[in-house]
Amino acid sequence: MDNCIFCKIARREIPSHRIYEDEDILAFNDIHPVAPVHFLLIPKLHIESLADIQECHQALIGKMLLLAPKLAKEQGCDDGFRTIINTGRVGGQEVFHLHFHVIGGRERLPGMIHYG
Ligand code: 5GP
Ligand code: ZN
Repeated sequence: MDNCIFCKIARREIPSHRIYEDEDILAFNDIHPVAPVHFLLIPKLHIESLADIQECHQALIGKMLLLAPKLAKEQGCDDGFRTIINTGRVGGQEVFHLHFHVIGGRERLPGMIHYG
């Protein structure tokens, strides 16, 4: 996709701090980290969101999920981490290229979202 930020990152047209790359998947640090560890895992294939995955993506999504704990540990998350996938407008998705946030650090993260 020509104008997608994350496709541009995958094509190295926009710089990023990469922590993992293979033929299908890329992981790089979020530009606005919300915790000491905050990276994004993306498929190199442009899939807009989790709402757009199909059966043909099963192996790819499985590979991404298997990588999440490995990379989290490598980044120093020894005692857990949080994985977030914002999906669509209601989910607060801002970049419409599927990505898993992996967030962690030393301190316990704040609790889940509650309507006030
Ligand atoms: P979303 O709200 O779509 O789940 O999250 C998008 C994330 O992408 C945000 O946390 C934002 O900081 C990150 N982001 C947006 N543009 C860039 C960029 O150009 N480089 C990097 N590394 N992260 C980005
Ligand atoms: Zn894309």
